[in-house]
This record gives sequence, structure tokens and C-alpha cells, in this order.
Amino acid sequence: MTRLESTRAAFRHRFFPGVTAREWNDWHWQLAHRITGYSQLDRMFRLSDDERSAVAVGIRPESDADSTTEHALPVAITPYYASLINPEDPTQGIRRSVVPTIHETALLPGEDDDPLAEEHDTVVPGLVHRYPDRVLFLVTDNCSAYCRYCTRSRMVGQRATFSMAQWELAFEYIEAHTEIRDVLVSGGDPLTLPDEVLDWLLARLRRIRHVEFLRIGTKVPAVLPMRVTANLVRTLRKYHPLWISIHATHPDELTPEMRAACNRLADGGFPLGSQTVLLAGINDDVETMKRLFQGLLTMRVRPYYMYQCDPIPGSAHFRTPVAKGLEIIRGLRGYTTGYAVPNYVIDAPGGGGKIPLLPNYVVGLDEGRLVMTNYLGKRYTYPDSSLPADA
Ligand SMILES: *Cc1c(COP(=O)(O)O)cnc(C)c1O
Repeated sequence: MTRLESTRAAFRHRFFPGVTAREWNDWHWQLAHRITGYSQLDRMFRLSDDERSAVAVGIRPESDADSTTEHALPVAITPYYASLINPEDPTQGIRRSVVPTIHETALLPGEDDDPLAEEHDTVVPGLVHRYPDRVLFLVTDNCSAYCRYCTRSRMVGQRATFSMAQWELAFEYIEAHTEIRDVLVSGGDPLTLPDEVLDWLLARLRRIRHVEFLRIGTKVPAVLPMRVTANLVRTLRKYHPLWISIHATHPDELTPEMRAACNRLADGGFPLGSQTVLLAGINDDVETMKRLFQGLLTMRVRPYYMYQCDPIPGSAHFRTPVAKGLEIIRGLRGYTTGYAVPNYVIDAPGGGGKIPLLPNYVVGLDEGRLVMTNYLGKRYTYPDSSLPADA
């Protein structure tokens, strides 16, 4: 056993004594035993002052969602994910991504409940139609674990009803808009829904002739890998082409369990991509991101997007300068496998959509030639007949 494995085993035996391997590997057991309250956090981890004081201001068990008017993001961590957390180290990346701190209560100018103006592009409840040929379909507000930087913290875990009757309005909209060829099913995490519900939902979407492409956005492989059962794969693979985008935050998530989950999905024929939010002190350095993206490639996951952190309320402590994101892309391109370099984007506040950012490799023009630097900073030129000869 590696040290991490023995630490994880110790965590499991200490806080879930008597749990069998079968229970631990059952996603229903994991969901039923999520860590949702302060006293559990306090028992399992040595809390810092910043973590401890978060309790005073609105962290609450998910089961209490109705007991407060506070729109604070609930806390939920699967026992599996909690076993990856270092109980002694409040600066650990994955710990910071799910354990709240007092910094969440600091609201800064420019922060907004709905920074991407998704409500504005919401055409029927849960359906965001922003781009010409595709829609974002939010099918649930439930997640197995709540990321403290969640873009949709305004709505997740609120126990809002996402009923099949409400979905019907979305199906009708998609049916009436024949330009929609791509439906991105997200939330919340769609893979928290039961297999039969997913089966019904995807079958319904597949019946719409002009929908040629389906995708699911999920964090399940990282926070609840045992959810990826043989039956889930059998259910989903009826609806190919179905692509899956996996939310991944830090190389500490890349466990044998996550690898097995990604293998099952890849073997099921789902092309896998990843989405990562750039987070201060969590993954905002080249080495961490390189380990994450290279590790994902070995799990057959192609890094797709790296997001600048959205300005949701209380996110200042997570946000990095944009220069940091550019530095990371510059530190990857050329230095490692091109497949390991995601698209760095800012989802524009106000609803402008995803805007790609690239380090600048173009130096200028010189007598009909484009002047560029390569990844090592060396200069090269390319003859471009469209350029003026004496620019
Ligand atoms: C991200 C997003 C999509 C999908 O964008 P792609 O660049 O095609 O992956 C679609 N709709 C909305 C509203 C989105 O935020």
C-alpha cells in the first residue's frame, strides 16, 4: 500500500467503521453518507480558523436547504472524496475546493449571482440557448459534491424542482428549433439521476430528429467514481454519439478509482473531455496543471477547457489574474503533448459566451512575412502573401 492508500484506509475505518467494501463502492451508500454539516467536518479534519468561522455565516447541511433564506451554497462531500483530503492541511487544493471558508462571505464589486447572465438566455426553465446551434440543458440542481467556486452556486442544491413536466417544455422548445443540433446536458450533475431517468431523458432527446449530438457535463468520475457502473454505461451507450465532459480540478483526484471509471466510460465509446477551473492556490501553476492534464490523457480524457474563474459572489479568493492563465498555457504549449493543452477561456460576464485567450506568439509583420516566436522564445517568420510587403 502506498502512503495515500493507507491514509485513505485509515480515514474510512475511523469515520465509517464497519462499512463493507461493497457498501463503500455503492454510489447510493456514498450519497447517503455525504458530509454535509459542520460537526462532521470538524470531526474529520483539523479545521483552520477560516474554515471554522465559515459555519457562523451560513454553511448548512443540504437537508436544511429550506430552513434558511440564505442562498449560501450547501456543503456536501462524498466519503470517497473526503478520503482524499489531507485532514491536517487546510491549504490542500482539493480540500479548498469543497470545504468552505469565511472568504466566501466577502462580496466584491463585479461579483454577481449569475455572472454569465444565464437567466437572460433561459428560454424555458432550465434551458439556456445562447449559441446558434446548441443549448445547455440544466436537468437537475443536485450534485454529489459542491465545489465552492461553482458557476451555478445561485441555483445548485436549492432543492428546486426539476420535474419531468418542466423538462417537457424544454423538449418542446428544442423540437420547435430545428437549428439546435447539439444538446449539452448539465446541472447540477446529471449523473446523480437514476439510470432509468437518464434512459428516459436521453431517449426523449434522441427522438428529436435534428439533435445530432449529445453531451453530458459531470464531476462524477472525480467525486463519485463508483457511480460509473456497468449498467450506467449500458444505459448511456444506447444514445451515441454521446460525449462526456468531466470536471477535474487537481491531480490529487486522479486515483485508481477515477481511472477505472474513465476506462469504463472510454470503453463504452464515449469520447471524454475535461473542464478545469483555474483556481488561486489550488491549481494555478504550470506543474500542477501539467500533472493534471497529462494524467487525464492517460485516462483517455482530452483536456477541453480551462476556465478563468467566474466572478460569483464570494469567489475573490479563488480568482487569479488572467496573466496567470496565459502563463500556464505558455508553459504547456510545446513543452508537453499538444493534446494536454486545453482551450483557455473566459466565459464573459453578461452572457457573451466563452472567449478564448492565447498567449501572444505573433510579434508583427516584416516585409510580407509574419514574425512569430516559438515556445522557446525564438523568432521565426512565415511568408504570408496577404500581408503588405512593407508593413
Ligand atoms: C459552454 C456552453 C455551451 C457549450 O459550448 P461549447 O464551446 O460548444 O462547448 C453551450 N451553451 C452554453 C450556454 C454554454 O455556457
